[in-house]
Amino acid sequence: MGNSITEEIVREALRQVIDPEQKKDLVTLGVIQDIRIDGTAVTFTLALNTPACSLKREITDAARSAVHAVPGVEKVQVETASNPAGANALPAKEPIPNVKNTIAVASGKGGVGKSTVAVNLAMALAKSGARVGILDTDLYGPSIPMMMGVKKPLMATESQRLIPVENHGVKLVSVGFMLDDETPLIWRGPMIMQMIKQFLTEVDWEGLDYLIIDLPPGTGDTQLTLVQTIPLTGAVIVTTPQDVALIDARRAINMFKKVEVPIIGLVENMSSFKCPHCGESTEIFSHGGAEKTSERYRVPLLGNIPIDIKIREGGDAGKPVVIAEPTSPQAEAFIAISQNVASTVANLNMMDD
Ligand code: ADP
Repeated sequence: MGNSITEEIVREALRQVIDPEQKKDLVTLGVIQDIRIDGTAVTFTLALNTPACSLKREITDAARSAVHAVPGVEKVQVETASNPAGANALPAKEPIPNVKNTIAVASGKGGVGKSTVAVNLAMALAKSGARVGILDTDLYGPSIPMMMGVKKPLMATESQRLIPVENHGVKLVSVGFMLDDETPLIWRGPMIMQMIKQFLTEVDWEGLDYLIIDLPPGTGDTQLTLVQTIPLTGAVIVTTPQDVALIDARRAINMFKKVEVPIIGLVENMSSFKCPHCGESTEIFSHGGAEKTSERYRVPLLGNIPIDIKIREGGDAGKPVVIAEPTSPQAEAFIAISQNVASTVANLNMMDD
C-alpha cells in the first residue's frame, strides 16, 4: 500500500474536529503540534487551552478517532501539552491591544447599582486625566447607554474593527447598541457570547488606561467568556448592605477567586440615606454588612455610596453625578472610590512586574 499517510491528510482529518467551546476546528485553533508518521502509526501533540477536564477528554478522544479513521492508520498516539502560552492549564488569554487595565464591575444580583457605579467610576477616572472606556455586557439590562446619554449604532473601521461611541470624554461599547429593546431574551443568550467575544477582540479602543467592563449580575456565561478570553486586571464587586445582596456578593467574590482574578474591592451602594430636610442619616438597609464581608473574605472595602436622588437623576438624565455635580458629596464618594481603585490597580501591576 506504500506510505500514503501524509501530515496533510492527518491535518485534514483533524480539521473535522470542532472544539465545542470555541466552535472552531483544532487545526484552525492552532492546537495541533508536531505530527509524526511512522509507517501506520501517527503521533501528534494536542495543546489544549480549555481548563475543563471533561472537555479535554472529549476533544482528545474525538481527535484520536478522526485520525484513526484515516485509511491506512493503525495506531494513534495523542500527546497532550498544557496551555502553550503559559505555565498552568488556564486558557491562553490575549490582552486587548492598547488597553492597559481591564476592570470588571460585577454584582451578585441585579438592581444594586452596579451600572451606576461602573459609569461614575469611569467618569471619575477620566476626570483624573486617564483614558477610559466602558464595555457594557449586561444583556439583561444594558442601561449604560441611557446613563451615559448616548445611543448610536456602532460603526466599523475599514478593517472591520468596531469604533466605540464617545460621550463625556469616555469611549463606550454596549450590547444595547446591538440589541433592540424588543429582542426576546431567549435569543440573547446565544447571541451574547458571539457578541461579547467580538467586543473583547474586535474593538478599536485606540489606547486606554482603563477599560471598565459592566457585567450582568450573577455568575453566568458572560463572566465565563470574559475570564476565558482576556486577562482581567481585577474585579470590583458592588453590593447593597442587605444580607440577601451580600450572600450573592460572596458568590461573585468566590467565582473571581476561583479563576484567579484579583478582587480590587467591594463597593457598598445605597448604604445610607441622608434626609435632605433635616440632614439626618438613616441606614435603611442595616449596617456594616459589606464591612464584615470585606473582613471575612479579605477583600478591601473601596467605599460606600449613599442612596441619593441626585445619583438616580444623573443616571436617568444621561449625565452621571460625577460630572453633573462634581463637587457634591455624592460625586466625592465616587471619586474617593476611583482613587482607591487606581492605587490598587497600580499595586497589582507592580506585583506583576
Ligand atoms: P444594576 O446595574 O445593579 O442593575 P443600576 O445601576 O441600573 O443597577 O441601578 C438601578 C437603579 O437604581 C437605577 O435607576 C439607578 O439610577 C438607581 N440607583 C443606583 N444607585 C443609586 C444610589 N446610590 N442612589 C439612588 N439611586 C440609585
